[in-house]
Amino acid sequence: MYWDSKLETINKEELEALQFKRLIKILKTVTKNVNFYKEKFKAVGISPGDIKTLADVKKLPFTTGEDLKATYPDGLLAIKKEDVVRLHTSSGTTGKPKAIFFSARDIDSAAELMARCFVMTGVTRSDVFQNMMTYGLFTGALVMHYGAEKLGVLVIPAGPGNSERQLTLMKDFKTTVVHITPSYALYFADFLEKKGISSQRYLSLKRAFIGAEPHTEETRQKIEKLLGIDAYNSYGLSEMNGPGVAFECIYKNGMHIWEDNFLVEIIGPATGEPLPEGEKGELVLTTLNREAMPLIRYRTRDITSIISEPCKCGRTHRRLTRIAGRTDDMLIVRGVNIFPQQIEKVLMSIPGVGKNYLIKLEGLDEMTIQAEFDLSVFDGQVEHLVQLQNQIVNKLNSEILIKPKVEILPPGSLAVSEGKAKRVIDNRTI
Ligand code: AMP
Ligand code: ZN
Repeated sequence: MYWDSKLETINKEELEALQFKRLIKILKTVTKNVNFYKEKFKAVGISPGDIKTLADVKKLPFTTGEDLKATYPDGLLAIKKEDVVRLHTSSGTTGKPKAIFFSARDIDSAAELMARCFVMTGVTRSDVFQNMMTYGLFTGALVMHYGAEKLGVLVIPAGPGNSERQLTLMKDFKTTVVHITPSYALYFADFLEKKGISSQRYLSLKRAFIGAEPHTEETRQKIEKLLGIDAYNSYGLSEMNGPGVAFECIYKNGMHIWEDNFLVEIIGPATGEPLPEGEKGELVLTTLNREAMPLIRYRTRDITSIISEPCKCGRTHRRLTRIAGRTDDMLIVRGVNIFPQQIEKVLMSIPGVGKNYLIKLEGLDEMTIQAEFDLSVFDGQVEHLVQLQNQIVNKLNSEILIKPKVEILPPGSLAVSEGKAKRVIDNRTI
């Protein structure tokens, strides 16, 4: 089942022709309407006429998060102010927020892409969708909300937190799909467990869309098992509309990225050079279908790779592998490059480890991992605690090549945030 069968199964030739046409149109618009791009292109001596093929995109300069901050609040606006209908900002997980504007048509095309994602996972008009993401300036909840309504799904705009109320809504309105951060999904599973409620027996939940923050395959499997549902990885960023940029289909083997709307490149984060297909690097996106705020070669800082083999679902849009972290997430500890996801992967693969963890860096490079244990698997006896601790240390050592200190804590000891999870506290002195 497709939402837009023509565009979702478009062949390579037609897709590339469409991408090229849209790229040139966007380049002409920004050269005319956005001073920032006019000057940036002039500085490198390039104009839309120099772009003869899609591959020529690499001649264009990048746009970075810093550029968005420097042009705040509206330096990248490409349409008249009175044609803007919505402002969103990024969550500001990495500092000052970035302002993103939408025209009415932009809102509609973001909802279109979202509707494609819903249908791709098997959601139909008879589903009930509980949106457990933050409503407001953050794009996460609203863009998905509009997509669900476009499809004709009943939407419960629950927002995050207040698990008791979430549960009541789920029971009373027979929620079948939720949109939730992976960290809140684990917390909610714990909440149900404490109340002795089996999701499979008492609730109608079938699917969860999990995203907004990095998580591992092991975490997804844990969520699926605990809640008895299918969890789909949902990727997006405010700068590119929010959610609905890339999403998993039922085969869960990478996230289809909607290439008619986004021109995808993977570059070496240090060199800025395009990498051969399939290699892992930084995702760079150009908006191909946005009016209010087109972005050219935007450096997302997210690390991923492209899967180009055809997918069994029939969609021709290539897939992104699970986001391995952000270039600015990488920790350098005693000279070793470590991504928090590597640590999460190890923790979530050990049966006695619970649902929450924290990475602490202190002093000159001392790493402490705090991990909650899982009461249903682990009896809390001291000798077992030591065994679990050793198991974590050894497994981590072979994954990240250093031996951190590991502290095992009872379930519920670590704070859970309503928005994006904070997994790293870096208080190093240098
Ligand atoms: P925001 O602009 O506040 O929506 O944050 C977007 C950022 O959240 C992205 O650039 C990613 O770093 C992260 N993110 C969003 N979805 C996912 C996902 N499914 N997996 C990993 N990271 C994600
Ligand atoms: Zn597929």
